[in-house]
Amino acid sequence: MNISRFTTLFVLCLSLSVAALGQSASAPGLPAQAALSNSAAHGSAAADQPSEPKLERFDPNLVDKDLDPCNDFYKYSCSKWMAANPIPPDQAVWDTGSGLQVWNETVLRETLETASTNDPKRDAVHQKIGDYWAACMDESGINASGLKPVQPELDRIATLKSKNDITLEIVRLHHMFPGAWQGDDNQTNAPLFGFSGGQDFDDASKVVAQIDQGGISLPSRDYYLKTDDKSVELFKKYRAHVEKMLVLSGEPAPRAAADAATIVELETALANAQMDNVKRRDPKNLNNKMTLAQVKALMPSINWDEYLAAAKAPASEHYLVSSPDFFRAEEKLLAERPLADWQAYLRWQVVHRASPYLSKSFADENWNFFAHTLAGAEQQQPRWRRCVRAADRDLGEALGQAYVDRAFPPESKARTIQMVHSIETALTSDIQGLSWMSPATKEQAVIKLKGIEDKIGYPSHWRDYSNVKITRDSYLNNVGQATSLEYERWVAKIGKPVDRSEWTMTPPTINAYYDPQLNTINFPAGILQPPFFDPTKDDAVNYGAIGMVIGHEIIHGFDDQGRKFDAHGNLRDWWTAEDGKQYDERGKCISDEYTQDVPEAGQGVKQNGLLTQGEDTADNGGIRLALYALETALKQQGKSLDDKGDDGWTYRQRFFLSNAYSWCANVRPQIARLIVTSNPHSLPVFRIDNVMSNMPEFQQAFGCKAGQRMVRANACRVW
Ligand SMILES: [Zn+2]
Repeated sequence: MNISRFTTLFVLCLSLSVAALGQSASAPGLPAQAALSNSAAHGSAAADQPSEPKLERFDPNLVDKDLDPCNDFYKYSCSKWMAANPIPPDQAVWDTGSGLQVWNETVLRETLETASTNDPKRDAVHQKIGDYWAACMDESGINASGLKPVQPELDRIATLKSKNDITLEIVRLHHMFPGAWQGDDNQTNAPLFGFSGGQDFDDASKVVAQIDQGGISLPSRDYYLKTDDKSVELFKKYRAHVEKMLVLSGEPAPRAAADAATIVELETALANAQMDNVKRRDPKNLNNKMTLAQVKALMPSINWDEYLAAAKAPASEHYLVSSPDFFRAEEKLLAERPLADWQAYLRWQVVHRASPYLSKSFADENWNFFAHTLAGAEQQQPRWRRCVRAADRDLGEALGQAYVDRAFPPESKARTIQMVHSIETALTSDIQGLSWMSPATKEQAVIKLKGIEDKIGYPSHWRDYSNVKITRDSYLNNVGQATSLEYERWVAKIGKPVDRSEWTMTPPTINAYYDPQLNTINFPAGILQPPFFDPTKDDAVNYGAIGMVIGHEIIHGFDDQGRKFDAHGNLRDWWTAEDGKQYDERGKCISDEYTQDVPEAGQGVKQNGLLTQGEDTADNGGIRLALYALETALKQQGKSLDDKGDDGWTYRQRFFLSNAYSWCANVRPQIARLIVTSNPHSLPVFRIDNVMSNMPEFQQAFGCKAGQRMVRANACRVW
């Protein structure tokens, strides 16, 4: 229910991508790496060795001058790159950031390998990351142990005496598996429910207990409920996958078939009861305060005293229950369905969640459904990449320190901070100049903008992992140790003052986020690299790429969701009624525009502009702020946007070309479908063509005229 998880830059943070590509689901608190985007292994020969990673850098010679920029700017800017960069077989998406992903992972791999030498003089941090790496890379040992690492869990589930025993099994799952206690990013898939500490909506200075809907295993409820042919086909394949996993876990085939039927039926009932993604975008719908007595009455089949004690949860002023209707339906199911059904569900949860850390047959079958069938990848990623990302997820702030030393010099930080300040100044001017906003709301908006805290590169102090026990003996056990501590760390925040220094992304992450309840923007060192930030390039290129990203994150504070929070992160309406109405009209223009057919994702697949409205608003406003800031920077150098640089392009043209280049991507239709149906971000092509066709500033750059495709008759503008 951490709302900040909805306001990132990339679809890549969609942790399903990580699960999909054979790695586990998302991090406890730390969104896992952007697994979707790349691989070093273009061929099987290089299967487990990193090839020389290649960083992409903007080059205006890549445009296809045979095409018309006013017809399709994405194709004009990207088609040559796309033709030269086919998707590697182990990837679902390959984009201009993919080389950077491999580069970042290679840096982390070197750190991990050095730390894994078993040198008795290693310090405690290097012992942990080194032994974590060694245990993960020990593929033959993992294969030899087969089902053994989870056998005790399966045995205990088999001997449950009554439904009263379910509570303690759920709390065990929440401790053991990444993503199990709060759901993976953008997904509501914690076993039965999610539980964590989080900021209160009405008083952001307080941390309270949050209980969120859960229960499903597919990326969103739609996967269970849609009845078109393709959805029905995917659902059948999902059921077959559940059955295969149960057979692998030792069930005889007929029983596995019956259990799989039960499991998908339970999950479908839970999916049906879940609040949908669009409703969840409005924080008011999640802000349901309850006393503990009310929680107990809502769901008496869970023994809440037992759960809270096992989670070591401090008393909470109140409990935020995201969707009471969901819990009513889940309670009914728990009461009606026999213990045996829930034992099947728990067994599935164990093998499903453990599979990335078990022997090849489990990892392969998990990959086969989530990466191949759902996302379209043709082969598994090399093990080293999976292990690097798992280490980043589980021990990211230990591993990230060496990355920062190597890849993020103080000059990069200084130049980024300067860009952030100039983009914030651009938004101040933009707000002052808005014709539709009253002075009273403008004053409030500027207060909120001035209240944004900029976090650049890495946290001010590093997390302490001294209580995480890591050995070389068991990969699964290491994952469980890290998860357990992370889960309890979040739960322990309940009742304590908010820690404003916390980051929810690790330093090497290629992503960025705005946190509406802390009112912070966060740019990990991992994205402050080429092609997004390139110290060797001029301002036009950098404002076009990372400048737009900075603007995007700042605008999240003022999108249809972010605008509901004030400078202190409280859910409070600071808008006059008339200005709120004006905002909604402009927002509706965006959501109508992006409610569009997406043939590249399959026949009949349609984007829901209400789901992507916040991201689309941030894209549209962010690029404009970056352009204004560039204009100011050029003015200080005695230049203007329409002056030509050495290469014959104007700065304005270079700005838009660099922006488009940073989004060039080849995307498999399977993952396109997954993104369109369940992710709040638009596909890359729309992040260029829709945005720029709304902008007179773009049309001026390339001399586009009314009637051309890149000149939208009903152009939208919020910021
Ligand atoms: Zn975003």
